Amino acid sequence: MSATARILEHLQRVRQTAPDRWIAACPAHEDRSPSLSVRELDDGRVLLHDFGGCETGDILAALGLQLSDLYDRPLEHTRAPTRSRIPARDLLELVAYECDVAGILLMQIAANQSCSAVAWERLALAAQRVNAARLQIHVR
Ligand SMILES: [Zn+2]
Repeated sequence: MSATARILEHLQRVRQTAPDRWIAACPAHEDRSPSLSVRELDDGRVLLHDFGGCETGDILAALGLQLSDLYDRPLEHTRAPTRSRIPARDLLELVAYECDVAGILLMQIAANQSCSAVAWERLALAAQRVNAARLQIHVR
C-alpha cells in the first residue's frame, strides 16, 4: 500500500481535488469544514498541511500513525538514524492537553451522574491520542 493510500484510509471526508491532492477533515481538531490538505510528492512522500494550524505530529498522533507512515517505504527495517520523531516536549504537551480534556469531561460526568455519547467518544479519543504518544516514545 502506498503512503498516500495509507494516510487517506485513516482520514474522513476525503475529497480529491487534483490527481495528487486531497482535502480531508483534520483529525486533530474539531474540523467542521475539511481543512487538511494532503499532497503526494513525486517520490511517494505525503505532505500534510492543516489550514487549521495543527502540527503534522499531532495529526499523525490523532490517526495513530507515525512520521514514517508518510513515506512509501517504512523505515522500520532500515533503522535509519535520520528517522524523524516528534520531540518529547511536544508529546508531553499533547498528553497534558488530553489529560485536561479528560479531567473536564470527568467533572461533567460526575456532576451529571451520566456520560453522554459525545463525552464518551472524546474520552476514547483522548486515550487513543495518549497511547499514540506513548508509541512514539517507544520507537527508538
Ligand atoms: Zn487541525
